[in-house]
Amino acid sequence: MTNRTLTLDDRLYHYLIAHSVRETPLMEELRKVTQRQEMARMQIAPEQGQFMALLVELMGARRIIEVGTFTGYSALCMAQVLPEDGELICCDISEEWTDIGRPFWQQAGVAERIDLRIAPALDTLDALVDAGEVEAFDMAFIDADKTNYSNYYERCLMLLRPGGLLMFDNTLWSGAVADPDDQEEDTVALRTLNDRLYRDERVAISLVPIGDGLTLVRKR
Ligand code: CA
Repeated sequence: MTNRTLTLDDRLYHYLIAHSVRETPLMEELRKVTQRQEMARMQIAPEQGQFMALLVELMGARRIIEVGTFTGYSALCMAQVLPEDGELICCDISEEWTDIGRPFWQQAGVAERIDLRIAPALDTLDALVDAGEVEAFDMAFIDADKTNYSNYYERCLMLLRPGGLLMFDNTLWSGAVADPDDQEEDTVALRTLNDRLYRDERVAISLVPIGDGLTLVRKR
């Protein structure tokens, strides 16, 4: 028994995967294809994808924004549990990475729910604000360049409805956020965001130690 979060050794981690993660063969295949890429570490863990999909269901979400799509695994996880007329707007700057995910979205029958916008995410988010989409989204997942996290935060907060949920990936950054000697740009940006969220009374938060740290932020 413990009253703090467990450290998972390999045996316990594999138990968790084997007894909770329900990946479809298509999801597993996309993860395998991505593992062969140079930037494979940018992909979220399968238990995190499933957790996020559960949150989509719990929220009864219809419209979601994703900032940072990479090869499309998190998008696949979320799009699969959206209703037929649901919409996931994916922001990314890389055709090369997102092209890996597209055929998987097609095969899963969710491509029509995914609106991929290849452009700097701040431009896409600003365009949504300008188009009158303020408070029109139920959820947002932010997993892109860390130095822009604070900028993505303010835009997404505007675009979310009250009671909407933001999810920030990598908020524990392999533990680096707790190492005062690490002053690398991305680490500093994540530390700044974490401190900011902690003090921000517009939202309720929880930093969940799943994957590389996933902070849940509910707009009040
Ligand atoms: Ca990430």
